[in-house]
Amino acid sequence: MSENLDVANPYKVGKKFRVTPVRLFGAGPGNPSVEVLYNMGLPTVTAFNTEFFELMDEIKELTKYVYQTKNPITFVAQFSGNGGNECMATNLADPGDTIIVACSGVWGVRLANMARRYNLDVIELQIPPGEVYSFEELEREIIKHKPVTLFMTHGESSSGVLQPLDGLGDICHKHNCLLAVDAVASVGVSPLLVDRWKIDAVNGGTQKGIGAPPGMVLMSFSPRAQERMSKKKHPPPYIFDVLKHADVWKCLGNKVDYIYTFNSGMLAAIRQALVDLCEEGIENAWARHQKCSDLFVEKIKKLGMWHFVEKPENRFSGVNCVCLPKDVNWRELVEYVLTKHELEIGMGIGPTANKAIRVGFLAQNAKPELVDLVVKTLEDAISYCRSGAG
Ligand code: PMP
Repeated sequence: MSENLDVANPYKVGKKFRVTPVRLFGAGPGNPSVEVLYNMGLPTVTAFNTEFFELMDEIKELTKYVYQTKNPITFVAQFSGNGGNECMATNLADPGDTIIVACSGVWGVRLANMARRYNLDVIELQIPPGEVYSFEELEREIIKHKPVTLFMTHGESSSGVLQPLDGLGDICHKHNCLLAVDAVASVGVSPLLVDRWKIDAVNGGTQKGIGAPPGMVLMSFSPRAQERMSKKKHPPPYIFDVLKHADVWKCLGNKVDYIYTFNSGMLAAIRQALVDLCEEGIENAWARHQKCSDLFVEKIKKLGMWHFVEKPENRFSGVNCVCLPKDVNWRELVEYVLTKHELEIGMGIGPTANKAIRVGFLAQNAKPELVDLVVKTLEDAISYCRSGAG
């Protein structure tokens, strides 16, 4: 090693990074299509290029359709689902303000912790696993705590529940509270009508129902949220500054602004995934996910498996949290499925940890023939685990 350096060069001649292609049937990410991956590898375009602005404009319009919103502040940000939640938490309240986070699994709890780091006064509600909140109990909490914002998780990928939201916006607004929704797992999967349901802020992931790679979020903020953000006393963290994102994405006029250097390949990938979704039609995509979930839940009954979420009306069709027969070890099963069948299914986390596995048919993986494939694979895995061969 050179005397001028302190760290030895780790380069190994000829060493390559190889990935075994695995079909992803966990809680997300799913497998992006070949077309989406191709777009991700397109040459880098910079914000000095008109093609780049066309790309941004198209993405905004496609996102508005997917969310069913006319919100001018609608854009894609290049941070993950948790980043989108932190962005909502730090833009819709000032330090010292009270917010309510209605948790139904791990993602609400994480959001609550992020909000505390920004010195918000967080009221964290909890609910038994598999249950959803009634609007009556949420209104009682709003009246009691007078929060400036209520945070809900729409599709909870850790517990497998889908929280109803239609009608909640009116309740929040009656009490001068904004409604913010984590739709990381549910966008593109379950019906979500942002304007009609009067949602003020929504954060959707790209890696689940949309069929793009992870690391980006689809965000939209209502005019009511915009008004709140423009009156904030304490600025949000720079990278999460929604009004800055709005300027960069020319949501509110033609101002030239900079927030960070975009990864144009990722934007091209999300554009392609959104185009594919729009070509299908959002209602068809919702129905396709529901159909695959129903099929799966019906078929696993003959394997002695059952849904973790008791009430069918509470079940989230994007991530099926399902229980294995008592004599089957989930660790052994998940490992066998991966090594023998090159197919990934998710382990339980939070409320489902050691209680259920999580199986998702997301975006292009939401196909009846793939449901059959997963059910057959589970059947094989269960008999392998029972044979004691592992
Ligand atoms: N919220 C929900 C509902 C999720 O399912 C996830 C990802 N599983 C997240 C937030 C966090 O997203 P990310 O891992 O992209 O940060």
